[in-house]
Amino acid sequence: MTNIVSKRASKIEPSITLSLNTKANALKEAGEDVVALAAGEPDFDTPEIIRNAGIRAINEGKTRYTPAAGIAPLRKAVAEEYSRILGVDYGWKETVISHGAKHSIFNALFVLTDPGDEVMITTPYWVSYPEMIKLVGAVPNIVELSVDDGFRLTVDRLKAEVEKSKPKAIMLNTPNNPAGTVYSPSDMEAIARFLLDEGIALISDEIYEYLVYGGYEHHSPVKLVPELKDSCVVVTGVSKSYAMTGWRVGYALASEQVAYRMGAYQAHATGCPNAISQWAAIEAVKNGADARDMMKASFEKRRDMFNTRLAKVPGITYPEPGGAFYFFADVSGLYDKCGVSGSGEFCEKLLAEGGLLLIPGGPFGCDNMVRFSFAASEETLNAALDRFDAFVRNYV
Ligand code: PMP
Ligand code: GLU
Repeated sequence: MTNIVSKRASKIEPSITLSLNTKANALKEAGEDVVALAAGEPDFDTPEIIRNAGIRAINEGKTRYTPAAGIAPLRKAVAEEYSRILGVDYGWKETVISHGAKHSIFNALFVLTDPGDEVMITTPYWVSYPEMIKLVGAVPNIVELSVDDGFRLTVDRLKAEVEKSKPKAIMLNTPNNPAGTVYSPSDMEAIARFLLDEGIALISDEIYEYLVYGGYEHHSPVKLVPELKDSCVVVTGVSKSYAMTGWRVGYALASEQVAYRMGAYQAHATGCPNAISQWAAIEAVKNGADARDMMKASFEKRRDMFNTRLAKVPGITYPEPGGAFYFFADVSGLYDKCGVSGSGEFCEKLLAEGGLLLIPGGPFGCDNMVRFSFAASEETLNAALDRFDAFVRNYV
């Protein structure tokens, strides 16, 4: 058969997070006895006031194409909210509404890079980063971090890496998926100043900005170094903070020049983000704080419970997550004992013998690790921990 697939597309693999999430749902629907901590999405329903705003939009006929970069009232609400949070003035033309934060990141990469440009990412990276970089024709420059350095990039390490090979852009994600890492303000400020001095563009993925726990706080690089505004694209959205993953609304804050090009690109690639979802997102941004805080408090409770129990499982280590809703644990000490050679095989064995579905760390750039999502009910989390503990104790 003639192969008509391009070389570029042949390099792209499906998303492991999305495909394992689909697999978990299919197994459950088929009546299999499976507990899954795969989904990187809140298990809550979208808050009622936001749902109602969506219903109102449908009934009021707000169902047509919108401007490519999003409706002005949402862009204005986002600009206002983030000017306040970041302490940096963003006009509404310095915002772009997209079809989920994933789409915002892709658009930003498309606008900031030319084919062959290097984009630096650090491990563990979110699974879509390297694929998106390849899709726009750029080249991932992967900096490996480890559990020992808390999966945090330091400015000294960054300097050393830039000396080896200077990228056009870097992508940072704090709070981090999958490790839950949160950067301290001093580390982030040092990194931001260095990037500014070097003229390296930053895509700052802050989709988990509100989900920080314990003593941790989220500090956007733009808040710490306002002069970075022109060379930084801040990406966030409603998916995680307001339990709106399926509505598909993300947004970017950038200079007007970058935002204009992102909107122009979007005009030809997708037309516009979903009209109904944009009206619902206004309600989230303007009036969703109470619901958001309530869900956050619940995530924090689950994190603490999960942490207490996971710490008792023998043979594994993990950094305590300060944000997002994941634990990322080093299980490589169990590989020989279980007769597996990597995280994919480990997860397959855990599913087959233990009835627990986790996401392997390999596609995040860490084949010694596995990811647990704690965006699940306490009952599910306890069942998962029972299964994980029993599986591990069978081998140690
Ligand atoms: N960045 C990270 C780190 C994520 O985990 C996700 C998960 N979905 C996204 C971006 C994209 O979010 P959205 O659902 O808004 O596309
Ligand atoms: N970001 C979530 C995750 O990492 C959702 C799935 C996806 O978009 O990749 O599980």
